[in-house]
Amino acid sequence: MNISFEGKRVLVTGAGQGIGRDLALRLAKYGATVIALSRTKKHLDTLTQEDPRILSVVADLRDWDASRKAIENVLPVDLLVNNAAIASLSPFLDVKPEDVDLLMDVNVKGIVNASQVVAKNIIERKCGGSIVNVSSQASQAALKDHAIYCASKGAVDALTKVMALELGPRNIRVNTVNPTVVLTEMGRLGWSDPNKAQSMISKIPLGRFAEVDEVVDAIVYLLSDKSSMVNGVALPVDGGFLAT
Ligand code: NDP
Repeated sequence: MNISFEGKRVLVTGAGQGIGRDLALRLAKYGATVIALSRTKKHLDTLTQEDPRILSVVADLRDWDASRKAIENVLPVDLLVNNAAIASLSPFLDVKPEDVDLLMDVNVKGIVNASQVVAKNIIERKCGGSIVNVSSQASQAALKDHAIYCASKGAVDALTKVMALELGPRNIRVNTVNPTVVLTEMGRLGWSDPNKAQSMISKIPLGRFAEVDEVVDAIVYLLSDKSSMVNGVALPVDGGFLAT
């Protein structure tokens, strides 16, 4: 598949590490002007050293006003990937109110904020665009000790459908990718224990976790014109986990 993002400005949140970082590098290779937003400056510094074409923005998505301003400062933006998220593990009965606030602030409210700024800009410029929200298999399946993470990703799927409904008429498509475990920093948090990992792998028909590149491929597809009639979908990248 021949994909080019020449002339496009793409904002990727959570681009300091993991999936977001590899996505930023890939999109830059495809000719996009990539704006990498993330929380930790030193991670972004190593990213821009690796590809000096990438622009970086240090912002904490927990801070609505500061991150909104940071995104407004890098407009115009044609394409947006809401990838930043955090996970915290706890049995449901031990969940603290601050855990709920933290995960909802970053994983859900962060998407609302960034998407409002970018969508308004695309609408003003009448250029059309695409937004990809990085959700998870956890949006649709119960994962032990992941109550609030699952709830936050369920919210991402629901939010995406409404965004697709309301922004579609303005020529902005909105979709999610829903990966299974990927052994990034976040993936290792939940799945480093070999027994836990094996029990998850045994439920994945392809018998393995996903690679970062496999998630990047799906995001690139949904972001590109190759998916020009795809709007409001949740695309599992899970080796069949959600199908069983
Ligand atoms: P990582 O933890 O490896 O990377 C997350 C990135 O998001 C980091 O660069 C981090 O910044 C950034 N980030 C976190 N909080 C904030 C914040 N408040 N403001 C700005 N940036 C922030 O995660 P993954 O790459 O694994 O995850 C990427 C996406 O994929 C997430 O949406 C995740 O939920 C989803 N996903 C991941 C799976 C997995 O198994 N890994 C499975 C399914 C979905 P910093 O550099 O400071 O750490």
